[in-house]
Amino acid sequence: MGRIYLDNNATTPVRPEVAEALAGMLKGCYGNPSTLYCIGQEAHVEMEHARDVMAGILGCNREEVIFTSGGTESDNIAVLGVARANRKKGNHIITTKIEHHAVLNPCKALEKEGFSVTYLPVDKYGMVDPADVERSITSGTVLISIMHANNEVGTIQPIAEIGKMARAHKITFHTDAVQSFGKLSVNVNELGVDLLSASSHKIYGPKGVGLLYVRKGTKILPIMFGGHQERSLRPGTENVPGVVGFGKAAELMAAEGPAEEARLLKLRERLWEGIKANVPHVKLNGHPTMRLAGTLNVIFEYVEGESIILSLDEHGICAASGSACTSDALEPSHVLAAMGVPPEKSHGALRMSFGRENTEQDVDKVLEALPKVVEKLRSFSPIYKDFLKQQQTA
Ligand SMILES: *Cc1c(COP(=O)(O)O)cnc(C)c1O
Repeated sequence: MGRIYLDNNATTPVRPEVAEALAGMLKGCYGNPSTLYCIGQEAHVEMEHARDVMAGILGCNREEVIFTSGGTESDNIAVLGVARANRKKGNHIITTKIEHHAVLNPCKALEKEGFSVTYLPVDKYGMVDPADVERSITSGTVLISIMHANNEVGTIQPIAEIGKMARAHKITFHTDAVQSFGKLSVNVNELGVDLLSASSHKIYGPKGVGLLYVRKGTKILPIMFGGHQERSLRPGTENVPGVVGFGKAAELMAAEGPAEEARLLKLRERLWEGIKANVPHVKLNGHPTMRLAGTLNVIFEYVEGESIILSLDEHGICAASGSACTSDALEPSHVLAAMGVPPEKSHGALRMSFGRENTEQDVDKVLEALPKVVEKLRSFSPIYKDFLKQQQTA
């Protein structure tokens, strides 16, 4: 039985073309790109081709693209690096309550260094209000970091609007675009950002490689020290095969364009319509329209998301609870909490995220299994029994 993988926001399978590009590099191109002889230069050329692809997608210069070990490292360099470089100018940072932990935890670390951080609220759809951003700006604000699209619920933030505001106030603006890179337009000038993070393994590339766009002239310090690679902002011999694989993955995403997003949107809506028609007591999380095409986050009341995941796994279906990063801690999702979902409800959240390997048949198989799974789990649930009793007496 083929497995149905519905957790593409956590990671994606490596595309065959990318695997081939990677294997080619591992087998035939071992040079250190910093060396001058031909095998080093071969590696250098391959890596610079990937940099050109990224610069094309971002609408920036190739020198503004820094390769890193992934989204987490890019976020850390952006947040820690900009804050520390501007310490004399001010100690205030603005971010949101719904960021990935790769942004939230560096902010927490900076609070210990004496920075003050404003964590902006979101509305019930997970959307930040640009007016809140503007109101939070002080004369000491040195960085605004707001994600482009949320990994748990898929809500897309008004980045361009916030970007204009940041520019008017001359404040450095970073966006974590790990979930949107390759899917939405991430032109850095249209978005008005000075820094942007992306990661390879969310777009069918290998794990452990990412990029940070850094606008020319941005004041930033490295967080690691070593050689001169990546403009000394990310020292250490580059992950050349990884970078080449990432470049190939990005190139293929760009070539597919919006057609693939439209296909994913159809799959997602087919699943949501089917769930609504066949399972009572469900609620959609995330924005109705300003949302990643492939993301469907649903609360199944009176059941635990974790129990649904384990039962679906028996049917060969992989999905996630609140978020992959919090699914081994039984804490309620910080994103759903910020959206005003009470903890007893957010425990019933299930995230299903689509990718290029998913088909309509996958959706129909999920729609066969899911209603039965939820009904069975509810039949064991004391809270559901209480709910039914209340309904009878009401
Ligand atoms: C996955 C993810 C990250 C972390 O990227 P890694 O490459 O896994 O370190 C950061 N931000 C968001 C929004 C993500 O979805």
